[in-house]
Amino acid sequence: MATVSPALGILGPSGCSDFAQVTFPSPNHGERRGGAVPELVVIHYTAMASCAESRARLCDPVAEVSAHWLIDLDGTTDQLVDESRRAWHAGAGAWGAVTDVNSHSIGIELQNSGNAPFPAAQMAALETLLTAILTRWHIPPQGVIAHSDMAPARKSDPGPRFDWRRMARQGLSVWPEPAKADPAGFISALRAFGYPDAPPDILLHAFRLRFAPWARGPLGPGDAGAACDLARRFPARPLCR
Ligand SMILES: [Zn+2]
Repeated sequence: MATVSPALGILGPSGCSDFAQVTFPSPNHGERRGGAVPELVVIHYTAMASCAESRARLCDPVAEVSAHWLIDLDGTTDQLVDESRRAWHAGAGAWGAVTDVNSHSIGIELQNSGNAPFPAAQMAALETLLTAILTRWHIPPQGVIAHSDMAPARKSDPGPRFDWRRMARQGLSVWPEPAKADPAGFISALRAFGYPDAPPDILLHAFRLRFAPWARGPLGPGDAGAACDLARRFPARPLCR
C-alpha cells in the first residue's frame, strides 16, 4: 500500500491534485455538478473493523460509496478519488447554502471501529493532509465539518472522541469561545453557523457531539453562548459562493 505524505503539496498542471496521486482508485465518483469546487471538508469515521475492509467497501461499485481519502490507524494515507472529482461520501444533508455537499466538498474517512480513540499517528497524518487540502483549495478553517454536522438526523461520525479543539488550535477547524447567552437564540445561531434544518433536540445532540461531548441535560446558556460565538465569527453564508 502506497503512502502519499511527501506528495501532498504537489499540484498538477491544472492546479488540482494530480490523478497520479490516487493510490487505491475507487470507481465510485462523478463530475462535480455545476462546476463546483471544494469549499468544505467532511470528516468521517469508517465504523468498520479494519482499514482493508473499509477500503474494499469504499472501492466496491455495488456499495456506491467512496471518499477522497482514507487514513489508517497508523497514519497510512490512501487517496481513493482525485480531489477534482465528486466522491460519494456525504449523502443527503446540507451546510449553509450548500445542499449538494458531495459536489462542494472533499471527504476524509478515518479508520475507526466507531467508539475507539483516534491514535496519535492517525491524527498527525490527518493534520498533514488537511493543511495541504485547505491550502490547495483555499478553504477556510470553518469549512472543515463533521458528517454529523451536515446530516445531524442520520449521522454521528466522527463522533465524540474526535478532538475538534486540537484541529482548531492549528487553524484546521474552529472552536467556540466559552460564553453564555439566552437559549432562545440557540437554533438561529446554529442555522447561521451552517447547520441544516432539523428538530431542536437533534441539532442540540449534533452540536454537543462536536463542541461539548461531555455536556448532559437540557439546552443551557453555555450551549447558546458557544453557538452564538460561532455564528458571529464564522457565519456560513460567506462560505457559499
Ligand atoms: Zn460519515
